[in-house]
Amino acid sequence: MKQNGIMLSIPREELTDEDIAVMEAMGDDHLYTSEETPMRADAFEMSDAEKIDTIAYHFREIMNTLGLDLTDDSLRGTPRRVAKMYVKEIFSGLNPANKPDIALFDNKYGYGEMLVEKDITLFSNCEHHFVPIYGRAHVAYISGGKVIGLSKLNRIVQYFAQRPQVQERLTMQIGRELQRILGTEDVAVVIDAKHMCVSTRGIKDTASATVTSFYEGRFKEEKTRSEFLRYIS
Ligand SMILES: [Zn+2]
Repeated sequence: MKQNGIMLSIPREELTDEDIAVMEAMGDDHLYTSEETPMRADAFEMSDAEKIDTIAYHFREIMNTLGLDLTDDSLRGTPRRVAKMYVKEIFSGLNPANKPDIALFDNKYGYGEMLVEKDITLFSNCEHHFVPIYGRAHVAYISGGKVIGLSKLNRIVQYFAQRPQVQERLTMQIGRELQRILGTEDVAVVIDAKHMCVSTRGIKDTASATVTSFYEGRFKEEKTRSEFLRYIS
C-alpha cells in the first residue's frame, strides 16, 4: 500500500495470527535481525520538509484516534512538534548526511596506551516501542597512528543513538565506525542503559539495566580488557 510515496505497513488482514504472535514476541524480547539499521532503498527520496509534513499528518491521526481534541490550544501544535523532533533531532541519525565530520590527527606524542572516554551521556529510542533508552556509553581505542578529537567520540555515539535502536546494534555500530575511522581493530565500547519500555510498561522493572559490549583487537585480551573495565567501573 502506497501513500505519498511511503510504503505503509502490511494491513492487518494480510497477517496471520502466527505472524502477529512472532512480531509481538520479538518486540517484547527486544530481538533484532541485523547489525545494519533496516532501511528502505528509497529512504531519502523525500526531503526533510516533506517527511515532517507527512509525519505531522499521521501523528495528528494517532491523536485523533485516541480521542484527543486537536482544536485545544495545548494540543494543536503537537503533531508538527513531534514530526520535527523525529526528523531533526531524535531520529536524525538515520540520515547519513547528518554523520559528524571527523578530522583525525597524527599521534605526534606517540601515546601508545588506551584512550578511554567514559560516561558519555546516551539518549536513544527503542525500535520496538519508540520510547527512550537512556544511560551511558564508554568507548576506548588504542591508536594505530591516528588520534581523534575527544568531543568527536561523543558525536559518534550520539549519531548512532539518534535512530530507533536496539542496544546490541547500537553498541556494534559505534564500535565498527570507530574502527573504520581510526583505522584500528583495537576498539572497545560498553553501553549501560535503561529502557523505558521495560520500566514503564510490560514487566515494569525500574531497577534493571542492560549492559552490552564490543571488544575487538587487543581488547579481546584479558589484560587490556580488565584495564579498560577498571577505568570505567
Ligand atoms: Zn522496547
